[in-house]
Amino acid sequence: MELLEERIRRDGVVKPGGVLKVDSFLNHQMDIALFTAMAEEWKRLFAAKPINKILTIEASGIGIAAVVGHVLGVPVVFAKKTQSINLDGTMYSTRIQSFTHNRVYDVIVSTRFLGADDHVLIVDDFLANGCALRGLIEICESAGATVEGIGIAIEKGFQPGGDDLRDAGYDVQSLAIVETMDPATGAIEFRR
Ligand code: 5GP
Repeated sequence: MELLEERIRRDGVVKPGGVLKVDSFLNHQMDIALFTAMAEEWKRLFAAKPINKILTIEASGIGIAAVVGHVLGVPVVFAKKTQSINLDGTMYSTRIQSFTHNRVYDVIVSTRFLGADDHVLIVDDFLANGCALRGLIEICESAGATVEGIGIAIEKGFQPGGDDLRDAGYDVQSLAIVETMDPATGAIEFRR
């Protein structure tokens, strides 16, 4: 998506260790006009899918997912990070390794908000190794819900998550795929 690529080139900051900082427009300060254009693009890409729910993970997926839910006219559920899992059958849970914080989180979704009738579009800001998405897919499997697609703002194509999920048969639509980025020059190349 041209608009997002231009914005990443203009305002993204390439950090050492394969980290792209986009906090001026995506995951700290948020450009809602840009999110709306992104949501319209996913609406077009997933038009054939009977999506009735958006699923994301806190915190940085929530802003984008909220706008997608508004544009598609469906509810948005976010998986919560938690310290204490109460295994009383009222929640689905999984463990997720965080790429940016280098630690493991327990995440939960209430059984009230996800079930076998749901056709889910999973939305997140970044796709790197795919740990966050695999956790969300596992939660959908526990609920008996169908994963109709995965909408990602920025995929880092030099990390394996996106291609692994496509190979596993998931419809992954990333609006910008970074192929290479150089912390010394700040140069960013996108996949065509
Ligand atoms: P994964 O689980 O695919 O390895 O990483 C995805 C999660 O890590 C995303 O939810 C995102 O919050 C975070 N993340 C991964 N790479 C980056 C990055 O380069 N920049 C930022 N800002 N977040 C990232």
